Parts: sequence; structure tokens; C-alpha cells
Amino acid sequence: MSNDYYKILGVEKNASDDDIKKAYRKLAHQHHPDKKGGDEKKFKEINEAYQTLSNKDKRAQYDRFGNTTHGGAGGPGGFGGFSQGGFGFDFQGGDFGDLGDIFEAFFEGMNGQKRRTYAHGSDMEMTQEITLEEAYAGVEKTVSYKVNVRCASCNGLGHDTKATFLQCKKCDGRGEVRETRSTFFGNFAQVKACVECHGVGQVPDKRCATCSGSGVVRGDKKIAVKILPGIADGQIIKMVGAGEAGERGAQEGDLFLHVRVRPHATFARQDDHLIVEREIALIDLLAYVADREAHPIAITTIAGKKLSLDISSDFAFNKPLKVPGEGMPHFNRTGKGDLFVHFKVVQPHKMNKDAKRLLEELRKEMR
Ligand SMILES: [Zn+2]
Ligand SMILES: [Zn+2]
Repeated sequence: MSNDYYKILGVEKNASDDDIKKAYRKLAHQHHPDKKGGDEKKFKEINEAYQTLSNKDKRAQYDRFGNTTHGGAGGPGGFGGFSQGGFGFDFQGGDFGDLGDIFEAFFEGMNGQKRRTYAHGSDMEMTQEITLEEAYAGVEKTVSYKVNVRCASCNGLGHDTKATFLQCKKCDGRGEVRETRSTFFGNFAQVKACVECHGVGQVPDKRCATCSGSGVVRGDKKIAVKILPGIADGQIIKMVGAGEAGERGAQEGDLFLHVRVRPHATFARQDDHLIVEREIALIDLLAYVADREAHPIAITTIAGKKLSLDISSDFAFNKPLKVPGEGMPHFNRTGKGDLFVHFKVVQPHKMNKDAKRLLEELRKEMR
């Protein structure tokens, strides 16, 4: 493949965007493989050249370094599954409304040999709310939803089990229908799967009365979903095959379950760490210093465990106290995050006479 893109499009190195566009349209029209005398290889070359020269950044890069990005196929919105010969389209720019159509026609034509199969069931999306405690311990939730399920009368076949098959009248048993489409570049034949027989070429003489031939009916689905400990808010669980039933026994879609972890009244979560605020009265702090055993400073963890905090004499109360391993479990691996206790020292609202006197004595004693 020649890689002088300017030569391929027959334009000068300093050609304007408009000149390039014009040259491309003319050549693409001329060499389109669906046209008489069309040339698939040439058509690909032209497209590749245009792909680069019509993009300001790519063109600048090409001018400087030559053809460095050769062969990147299947860009966003591109044609997955069609990547022979470094054939990479990118139609994000979309200044050719009618160009998309022509390629669609072109590709459908090329895939013509391959008969269509029945449509897969659609994927579904749902949201499941859980509490932070449930996220901590893991939980199993039953999810119920309305969905297209396989028709039980015909087991998803769409026809009576004793039905005989006749040739489809719409497509004369070919399974596909040829249509001519008008586009900017002219008329092109397009091959589509026959809607009557869904590309099979045959139709049953007796359709299932329950599902009128589709093989699916509206029904309820109920599945149990295991949510693992440590799951994060916004994480998605994919349940393969739990989506809509496919047409006439085709594969089911999947269910994507968005997990929302409800905000907690006491604990804030930061990745796998938990943060909690603990009010502490000055007098309790003094009592703790005097005798830790008799006056422990306790906290209840997310696991519901009562824990005596270990506050060392050099601990600064304006900093959080780290309690290792009392945070959230790491998702899908061992270990846990930490718990950080933020202390808020509260002063007494009022003091009676006796309290004041005792405090005065205490001060003297401690000096
Ligand atoms: Zn047909
Ligand atoms: Zn049925």
C-alpha cells in the first residue's frame, strides 16, 4: 500500500481542507466497491488517507513523522469486528451525514454471506441500595423485576412444537431481502435479514398462541444476588443471563446491578477507611488519665463491636486516632481499612457549687 496520502488523494501538500474533502468524495465515489468497476483495495486506501488528512492533528503528525498510526482499527463508534488491513474509521466528527449510511450499506453487503441469527435479549440495569453495615459484612439480596422471559408454552421456540415448516414467502426461502438505497454516491444494494422469517428462510405453519411467535412473554424474574464484603458505592455487579430473554431461544441479556451504599449516620467512608466523630467530656478524659481500667473511652465499630480506645499520653486531640483494621474490608481480597476517630472535646454546660469547689481543690492538688 502506497503511503503517500497526498498522492493517494491526488492533492498538493498544501491542499486546503476543502480541496481534500472534494478529492476524497470524488475518489470514494469512483472506487466504491459496490459500484461497477469499484476497487475495494483502492477504496480502503482512499479512506485511510482521508482519515488522516481530514483531521488537523493527524495531518500535522503525518506531515512531521509520516504514517505512524497505521492500522488502528475500530475506533469509538467504529466498526468492531471489521478490522482487516488496518481499516480504521472514526466518524465522530460526523460532517458527512450520508457517509455513515454508505458504509453501513457497504458492510452489510460484505457480510451478506453470513445469515442473521435471532436477536439476543437486551441487557437490563437496576439499582440496589444497601446499608454500610451490609457493605461491611456482605449481603445476599433478592432482586425482582418485570422482564421478557422465555415463553413456557413453546419453550421459546415461537411456534407450536408440532408445527411444520414452510418456505418463507417474503424472501422465497433465501432468508434475506435485497434493498436498493440511494446515497450521496449513488444507489447501492443492501442486504438485510428477512423480517418475516428472521433470516432463516422458513416459517412455521402454526405460531405459538401465547407469545404470537416471538418466543418471549412479559413475566417476573427473581434472582438472588450475592454482594461481597467491601463493595463500594456505585460498583456494578454483572449477572450474566439475568436480562431479557432472547428472541426465539436466543441468548439472554445480562443484568447490570448498580450498588448504592446508603450514607451512614455515624460513619463516613473514605475508600476502605472509616471516619467517626467521638465527643468526649473533659472530666471523662481526666478520669481516663487517672485510671484507664476504671474509666475506659469506648467506641462501637461498624461491626458492632465495643472497643476501648488506647490513648497514649502524647496523643494530640486535634488529630484523629487511628484504630488499625477496624475499617471496611478490602473488596475481593483479604485485610481491612482503618478506623479514624476524630475527638471533639466538649465543655460542661454548667457547674454547681460543689463541683466548683472540688475542681478548685483538684487544681491545687495537681499543681
Ligand atoms: Zn423470509
Ligand atoms: Zn410461545
